Amino acid sequence: MNKNLLVGLVSSLLSATAYSATTIEVSAFYQSGSGFNVSQEIVGVYRSLENINELMAEKGINAEFKPTYFGTLSDSEVAPTENVFSGLQYMRGLDAAVEAKTDVGDIAIGIFPRLGSDYGFAQLIRDNTFTNEPNETRKMAIAGGASMGLSNYSAFVYLAGHELLHAVGAVHEEATAINFNTQGDSREDGFANICDNGHQSLIGASSLYTDKENISIAGATDCSVGGGDVVGFVNQYAPLVGTIAAERNNRTLTVSASENMNTQSFDINITRTDTSAADIIRVYIAGGYSDTGAGLTPIDVAFGVGAVTASTSVFFDDIYPIFDAADGTDQSTYIVALGDSEISDSAYDLLSVNTQWTSAQVGEPDDQIKDSEDAGSGGGSGGALGIWTLLLMTIAGTRRYLKNVKHHHRHEK
Ligand SMILES: [Zn+2]
Repeated sequence: MNKNLLVGLVSSLLSATAYSATTIEVSAFYQSGSGFNVSQEIVGVYRSLENINELMAEKGINAEFKPTYFGTLSDSEVAPTENVFSGLQYMRGLDAAVEAKTDVGDIAIGIFPRLGSDYGFAQLIRDNTFTNEPNETRKMAIAGGASMGLSNYSAFVYLAGHELLHAVGAVHEEATAINFNTQGDSREDGFANICDNGHQSLIGASSLYTDKENISIAGATDCSVGGGDVVGFVNQYAPLVGTIAAERNNRTLTVSASENMNTQSFDINITRTDTSAADIIRVYIAGGYSDTGAGLTPIDVAFGVGAVTASTSVFFDDIYPIFDAADGTDQSTYIVALGDSEISDSAYDLLSVNTQWTSAQVGEPDDQIKDSEDAGSGGGSGGALGIWTLLLMTIAGTRRYLKNVKHHHRHEK
């Protein structure tokens, strides 16, 4: 009886969670001939989605962007001479094969070289886009080499988030927000405000040229003056964006790591759910900002038929330079794993299991920012995972808050 009651509570908790936040599945395609550091780009997309999700939750938006697929665009598909603007046109239909290939998920991100000072573009969305193309994957593009944040503009970690909000329908300015309303009864308030701290909110044209901690979203309690209400706008339209494509729900790979003192390396374990076929699961490790950080060459981990877990390892000597590069930045050092049918749900913070490397940040011992456990390694199945994820999200959220506060002090010194 008690057990049944508990099961009942668990399922009602889970359904409450499922109904309160819309999941918008996002794919990403990087141009393979442009010389980007692949690990930095892939980890950068994960971190971009995690950062915008965290900000949206904090500011009152009940939606989350989740990764679902990563692919490449070869030189013959989109030449390396194309950029963040023209590459987007290929994805939008200038090349039918590229358009079809990138029709994955609710929103697809292209990663191309920047065009002058333009780091991102998104398809223009109006109310009639939802009426005329309810199931057409929305397209956007971001510049390679920026998504983990830049050393002088840490807010660039919201570059993808900025374009994602465009892909939902928000725009920079009040003057153009009225154009969204072609049908006469739609919103006209999906534009940026100047927030209480004097900084332009996220969707503003130059909003990214600041530090991450200065960013809010129009319509939030700290950014409600000016008439823009991107919080309300996204809350209204996100459910429609979330149903553009069928849910893939393939974020079932888990990553964990531990220090191996004998071999002076981190042992990395990948666990999968679908064991019916052999697969090569690729492991990407990157940390720090896009310009001053680093990413390792991807590592292939082979799974035989029936194999649940497989491992690889990376020497401390190869990881510590990334820890050094990430030291004192808003980013840590992360592991992401991608397979054919399953991918990581979140970026695994490798620093959370470190005890040997020490930060050069004076008075900030490394163990202050250690996680007790990472959400990505929760494992389990069914209901238990949901509850653990909720609990671990709380732990992770507290940890991030502490980390931000610390960075604040660092800037003030
Ligand atoms: Zn913009």
